[in-house]
Amino acid sequence: MEAHFNQEAILLHFPGLERLGVCESWQERFAESPDVLKSAERLQTTVPVLEFEIGAGAFVTMAGPCSVETEQQLLATAEHVRRAGARILRGGAFKPRSSPYAFQGLGLAGLKMLARAREATGLAIVTEVMSEEDVPLVAEYADILQIGSRNMENYSLLAAAARSGRPVLLKRGLVATVADLLCSAQVVLAHGNPHVILCERGIRTFETSMRNTFDVASLALLKQISHLPVIADPSHASGHSDLVPALARIAVAAGADGLIVEVHPCPSEAWSDGEQSLDFAAFDAMMHMLDPWIALHEMEVTQPAAKYNRRHEEVLQAVEAMG
Ligand code: PEP
Ligand code: MN
Repeated sequence: MEAHFNQEAILLHFPGLERLGVCESWQERFAESPDVLKSAERLQTTVPVLEFEIGAGAFVTMAGPCSVETEQQLLATAEHVRRAGARILRGGAFKPRSSPYAFQGLGLAGLKMLARAREATGLAIVTEVMSEEDVPLVAEYADILQIGSRNMENYSLLAAAARSGRPVLLKRGLVATVADLLCSAQVVLAHGNPHVILCERGIRTFETSMRNTFDVASLALLKQISHLPVIADPSHASGHSDLVPALARIAVAAGADGLIVEVHPCPSEAWSDGEQSLDFAAFDAMMHMLDPWIALHEMEVTQPAAKYNRRHEEVLQAVEAMG
């Protein structure tokens, strides 16, 4: 569509946005759908999960295996990451694998194991949903629905995830720009669900020595222009467990609101992504190393005057009202 922007008119609609760090080009680009950008009314969205919030100032770590494998593997990991300070357990029950012959996930059995791990540890659950039909099922078991990189532009899946009323963890597509990521976030918001968490997980570039290229500048940019919480995934960004702690530290320093990290009791035996998974000792060491960085970060986060808080029940009413 040929858009013609009247900059003065735009600035009339968004007085003071320059001061928020949202420059004119972003206002112009998102003139038709500015909800993902910061505004005077919406400086920071906070996403409620169980009894805490993401984006409210306290740093949140999500950790767990790439895939749910066995009850024992999941419970041992959940117990461990909780003791080390994680608040959310990750683990895929539906896995997007590049090979159709690779392990595809345990499906419903995996979701049930995740629910039992929540019961045993009190951790919230984030897990991926890959298809529209699975949304009601996954939403029954998970506290946060993960939309994976390969599905970032699956708009009907995004709409279905939004309608579930659950918070959506939206991972940046492998070849998606920051604007593409925000457009996908807008789809969720447009369906009445304000609870989107953006995730930088590395992008494809000419560099092949790592699995992906960690676009740390996108973290800083997203924090500047959007009110949505932003987290980083140093595991998929690097593809190497020995690089994960450094990338995690960089993410904290860049202003991320949290991390999602792969952890496995025995990475060499993991059914997926073992080479980038931390074992328990490495996870403990990373959390310990991050402590002072997180403390600094939390001191720097000025509590925004205009937080956008919506409770889960209010989101359900809003998505129902949208039909
Ligand atoms: C995952 O979290 O295990 C995963 C598959 O992530 P991504 O969609 O970022 O590749
Ligand atoms: Mn993985």
